[in-house]
Amino acid sequence: SALPPPRTRIFKIIVIGDSGVGKTCLTYRFCAGKFPEKTEATIGVDFRERLVEIDGEKIKIQLWDTAGQERFRKSMVQHYYRNVHAVVFVYDVTNAASFRSLPTWIEECKQHALGSEVPRILVGNKCDLQDCIQVDTDLAQQFADSQAMPLFETSAKNPNSHGDGNYHNSDHVEAIL
Ligand code: GDP
Ligand code: MG
Repeated sequence: SALPPPRTRIFKIIVIGDSGVGKTCLTYRFCAGKFPEKTEATIGVDFRERLVEIDGEKIKIQLWDTAGQERFRKSMVQHYYRNVHAVVFVYDVTNAASFRSLPTWIEECKQHALGSEVPRILVGNKCDLQDCIQVDTDLAQQFADSQAMPLFETSAKNPNSHGDGNYHNSDHVEAIL
């Protein structure tokens, strides 16, 4: 008789970075395929899911999004950092402060046993705002190299507005897996 279908594996990926960098919009784009009409500030922890097929296997990608607000994070923090398969660090290319925050976020992850032994990627978001760039690619690439992370510059709003126009959000996930 036929074997039961294998259970869908779940990959939990956490999305981290300063408030306003576009974490919610990126996860929405990845899971819903579009830019959200409007976003409310994330309250506590939220996750969105998308089924992807990689090497013929269906995998459920679970993207965990947080509010930057400390008062929410404190109580949720243990839950959030448990059983994580990969980490996405996000900064906003039009906001230098969000780039300067990255070491703090990276350190916090390390304190929860999510250092370089876990797949990690760096995402510079809002590349559609080409006239407002504050973090240039070379600097970001240098930092990414120093942390042994691949760098992806992108835009949740208009993924095709950057680079060669061949950007696909799924590249991020495939880079991780
Ligand atoms: P979060 O706090 O990191 O979750 O950030 P949100 O996803 O809520 O986005 C914060 C603001 O940035 C919102 O006004 C979004 O519309 C805007 N935003 C997010 N991603 C992009 C992007 O790729 N391009 C532009 N131009 N705006 C974006
Ligand atoms: Mg948010």
